[in-house]
Parts: sequence; C-alpha cells; structure tokens
Amino acid sequence: MSESSEPFEPGRTGSRLVGAIEAGGTKVVCAAGTGPDDVRDRIRIPTTAPEEVFKQAVEFFAEQEKEHGKLEAIAIVTFGPVDLRRPGSESYGAIMKTPKPGWAGAHWLTPFRQAFECPVYIDTDVNGAALGESVWGAAQGLDTVVYLTIGTGIGGGLLVSGEPVHGLLHPEVGHMRIPRTEEEKKAFPGACPFHGDCLEGLASGPSMQKRWGVPAGELPADHPAWEVQSDVLAWACVNLTCILSPQRILFGGGVMQQEHLFPMIREKTLERLNGYVDVPEVTQGIDQFIVPPGFGQDAGLMGAIALARKRLG
Ligand code: ADP
Ligand code: ZN
Repeated sequence: MSESSEPFEPGRTGSRLVGAIEAGGTKVVCAAGTGPDDVRDRIRIPTTAPEEVFKQAVEFFAEQEKEHGKLEAIAIVTFGPVDLRRPGSESYGAIMKTPKPGWAGAHWLTPFRQAFECPVYIDTDVNGAALGESVWGAAQGLDTVVYLTIGTGIGGGLLVSGEPVHGLLHPEVGHMRIPRTEEEKKAFPGACPFHGDCLEGLASGPSMQKRWGVPAGELPADHPAWEVQSDVLAWACVNLTCILSPQRILFGGGVMQQEHLFPMIREKTLERLNGYVDVPEVTQGIDQFIVPPGFGQDAGLMGAIALARKRLG
C-alpha cells in the first residue's frame, strides 16, 4: 500500500502512473497512465488462453515501466464470475466457474504480483465502469450509481456511497427476473441457460438475435423488437431504482449503440414508477437519470485507472 497521506484527488490527470486492465470475453485492453487525459499507451489482446493473455500484458507493462518509470499500482477490471470474497485469501481474484475455455480458476493477481513490485487491485468490469464514470464521466460527483452493460451478456455494476458493491460475491444484476405476461412467455422463452427469461435471457445481444433471427444491429429502428427491448430494460430500471435508490443509471454495451432506446426506456420507466419515487431527479430529470456512459467503450478501462488511483489513496 502507498505510504502517501495525500487524499485521492479525482483530477483527469494525476501524478501517479498506474497500469489498467479491462478484461472482456473477446478482448483484454491494457493501458498505462495517470488519468483519462493522460493515457500513455494501450494494447488490445484477444481473449485467448489466460497464460497467453497474462504473458502479453506483463510484457506490455514492463515496456511501459522502461519508458515512463515505475507503475505505482495495477488495477484489473474483469468479466465474471470472479472471486472477490476475501481479500488476501488464495482464491481472491480468480475466475470462478465459466464456460470460457481455460479460464475457470485463472488467477488474475498472481502474474502481475510476481512481475511487479506494486500493489495489484481487482474488481468486476462493471463495478469499475460505475466507479470511473462517477469520478470522471457521466455520473461525475454522484456516489450511488448503476452501470449496466447490454452486450454479449448483461452485467451491472453498483456503486453505493462511493464504494463498489461486492457483498456475498458480487451483484448479478443481469440475472434479475422481469415481469412478463403469459402471451410474452409463449412468444419467447428466453435464452439464459440458467433462468430462461431473466434480464440477460431477454435483452442481451445474443438473446435478441435468437428471438428475432438477425443480429440486433441489423434490426430497423421501427422493428417491434425495440418495444420489447425497451420494456425489459425499463423494468430493470424500475427494480434497480426501487432497490438501490441510485442517483443515475448508465447504459453501455454494444446493444445500447441503438440510441433510440434511451427515450423509450425513460418513458416506460416513468410510466411504471407511476410517480412513486417522487423526486425531481426522476420526475423532471429523467433525461439525466438514464444516460449513456461518458467514456463510451472505454468506461471499463477508465474504471480500472480510477480503481487504482482510489485504492492508492
Ligand atoms: P461484449 O459484451 O462482448 O464486451 P459488446 O458490448 O460490443 O461486447 O456487445 C456485443 C453485442 O452487442 C453483440 O451481441 C452484438 O450483436 C450487439 N451489438 C453490437 N453493435 C450493435 C449495434 N450497433 N446495435 C445493436 N446491437 C449491437
Ligand atoms: Zn439468467
């Protein structure tokens, strides 16, 4: 841990050079920098076998140290499920049961701890994104924030009072259940191998493709799929608003490149809350309550830099 007593100043550049890793199902992005306005260099590694990914990432950070000086910390934000239960335990930082070949049991912390002298921190990709967006992005200055990614899977990061939520393991927002009529259930049973019609089973990119027969990106804006999609995502907003009382909900991920979804989700969320959460941030400010991330595709990577800087103190 750092000996410095300087508090974490969330400026967009900082004096502390850190390494950042965002690990996704298809690619792992590594960067070195002090903040979002000072990213020195970055690489993109395909998510092949963990040994290969770790080797390339370690080489990248070693080069960065040669060029820019010692890294003060490395932070990893990763796809899950990842063991975040007991910091200091042997399995802390390891990927848990997963269908990704070779990744079950892969330990994110070990290779970087062995290769570098600095502390190594870890969180989920979506918790990282929620943190980064609250420090520098579209949720700046807010301390209770939801970040949802609607992509190959659906994940949700929860920041509560400025701290990413872990609890028992980490939240699994993508697997919440969504109210549906009998008619809807007959029309599509959902695509989640565990729950059928959970949020991910209904609204992830692959679930949409399974239901409508073409990739979500190829569906025209007036296709009925978007009514269904915004219905489902609005229920997620309603549930999250009632449970967590977030100051803002951010939606990222490939499917949310369909910008016309935002006004639809906002309208349906308001309709279903039915005036119950009676605060102006929701009733009058819905356009700022449900928003895209400020960092777009970089939300996770900036989150990793924010995590390193926050943990350094
Ligand atoms: P990942 O979840 O693998 O990190 P993404 O967030 O890019 O990656 O999500 C990929 C999913 O998003 C795919 O299922 C793809 O069909 C869908 N997608 C990508 N681009 C678009 C688009 N423009 N509109 C709707 N869906 C999209
Ligand atoms: Zn599920």
